[in-house]
Amino acid sequence: MSKMVYLGSNLKMYKGVKDTVEFLTRLSDLTKDIDRSGLTLFIIPSYVTLESARKAVPNASILLGAQNMHWEEEGQFTGEISPRMLQEIGIDIIEIGHSERRHVMGENDFDENKKVLSALNHGFKALLCVGETLQQKELDLSDETLSTQLKIGLSGVDKKDIGRLWIAYEPVWAIGVNGIPASKEYADEKHAVIKDVLCGLFGSDADGIPVLYGGSVNPQNAEELAEMPNIDGLFIGRSAWDAEGFNKIIRATYPIFQKKP
Ligand code: PEP
Repeated sequence: MSKMVYLGSNLKMYKGVKDTVEFLTRLSDLTKDIDRSGLTLFIIPSYVTLESARKAVPNASILLGAQNMHWEEEGQFTGEISPRMLQEIGIDIIEIGHSERRHVMGENDFDENKKVLSALNHGFKALLCVGETLQQKELDLSDETLSTQLKIGLSGVDKKDIGRLWIAYEPVWAIGVNGIPASKEYADEKHAVIKDVLCGLFGSDADGIPVLYGGSVNPQNAEELAEMPNIDGLFIGRSAWDAEGFNKIIRATYPIFQKKP
């Protein structure tokens, strides 16, 4: 049986309730013929849309994620959202440590670790984002950076929970409007580094942890990225925010992913 393929998008702070519901409904409809036993399709919209989003599409069609989460269940944390609140809505995934959380909002690896542990303890899938900055890349510190982010971010994770752990490799210099997409060779090489670190942490059980690539994936480079041996899925921003466009990328890459050993 071929491996599960992971394709998803973080909507950042763009679509409101109406646009999110329209987008999800359309995406679910466009992709309804694709058997979900081989494809995990997921969307991570903004917090305020989550309840309507969950009602709009079943999780058998599209898994839904939150873009962030506080690690405590409740307390004096004004402006934060707790795991219990997200459980109540029926959210599947918690995205942790997106580069904007780290580099704009100032989160560090120890914060991400508390969120990873809390997400897993509350039964969510934890999607930990890692990636080096341009400066770290230029100083030849990419591998060390990835290793540090993973070793701290995943510290204390119990082996029994790694079936719900996903990693996204998102080099900071490749993300967003000013991003330069990583070459397929570079991305694959860093995915191999990540898989090595995961293997060091969890042994051969780490083989099941999907590592997704994100950073300026677009209709031109999606297929060549999908061909690479260490890339298990794509985590897409701008190019997936239109349901028709995302559907095209899904249909172009899914068979490529499926054919890989
Ligand atoms: C992202 O922000 O996680 C991302 C991958 O964005 P984009 O595809 O737009 O670079």
